[in-house]
Amino acid sequence: ERLVGAAPDSEDTAVEAALRPRSLGEFIGQERVREQLDLVLRAARARGGTADHVLLSGAPGLGKTTLAMIVAAEMGAPIRITSGPAVQHAGDLASILSSLQEGEVLFLDEIHRMARPAEEMLYMAMEDYRVDVIVGKGPGATAIPLELPHFTLVGATTRAGLLPPPLRDRFGFTGHMEYYGSAELERVIHRSAALLDVSVDTAGAAEIAGRSRGTPRIANRLLRRVRDYAQVRADGTITAAVAARALEVYEVDERGLDRLDRAVLGALLKLFGGGPVGLSTLAVAVGEERETVEEVAEPFLVREGLLARTPRGRVATPAAWHHLGLRPPEGPSA
Ligand code: ADP
Repeated sequence: ERLVGAAPDSEDTAVEAALRPRSLGEFIGQERVREQLDLVLRAARARGGTADHVLLSGAPGLGKTTLAMIVAAEMGAPIRITSGPAVQHAGDLASILSSLQEGEVLFLDEIHRMARPAEEMLYMAMEDYRVDVIVGKGPGATAIPLELPHFTLVGATTRAGLLPPPLRDRFGFTGHMEYYGSAELERVIHRSAALLDVSVDTAGAAEIAGRSRGTPRIANRLLRRVRDYAQVRADGTITAAVAARALEVYEVDERGLDRLDRAVLGALLKLFGGGPVGLSTLAVAVGEERETVEEVAEPFLVREGLLARTPRGRVATPAAWHHLGLRPPEGPSA
């Protein structure tokens, strides 16, 4: 498990519940999504009905689960949490849907990974609050219609583009979650520090925010590691110097690159003059699997503008040379 990975690790799961904002007012950043959602929920409350179905798209760790829980809290409704991969048969979905309470929020994480037959059942459920349960097999099979309680579906996906249009169209509202800016991450860190009873100054929070890859989950995780360091090696207060030294120990650099990211970038620059070089060759050079380089290290390097994937191979940008403190060879490399 990587310290800068966006997927939750076991410790996150235990701690995150305590750090989750509980209302829209407490939720930091994502101004547009927050305002739109606020209107959707206020209107539903005024009508005395359930809120429209909500689709949230965005990278892991940006607050989709948190927002789903907030939708339920603001509607005064209970919430059921499940995920696409957990719904492999239409029957799984039918039993979840039929056991919901009136007005309940159903959170379906990774909705794009749901099995096809379940997806088709969901269309009718979202639109008509009804499903057809198929009883029997072959020519004798009959469809028994089943009325469902009204519910609000909150679907989450890493990419709304992966959803089939008929599913996408059945959401009343789609919110696109963006990576957070450093000012917002600093607010997340100050808020979490207060909840965890950790003392952090302005510069200390900024130092952690800069290394958090635009992701609150990572910010919260780095905060916990820096807190450990501050307790053991300093007086408990997180200053910029304490945060920087702590994250040096954990090999997370000032831009949020970790050991693997730096190894990939370092090999590309030092062994291949900045590229272009093929993915397989680069992977062998760092002693990692191709998939690890491509799926774990590269996305962030590309996002940061340090590496480009070109038809001729991987190429370092001028910013990459600068970041590793190296001089590019004569002539532009990218
Ligand atoms: P996702 O479902 O998108 O993977 P989560 O909702 O589980 O992300 O958020 C991960 C962690 O980050 C949670 O512990 C939550 O406290 C924190 N977090 C996410 N967004 C915010 C925010 N806008 N303000 C404060 N904390 C946030």
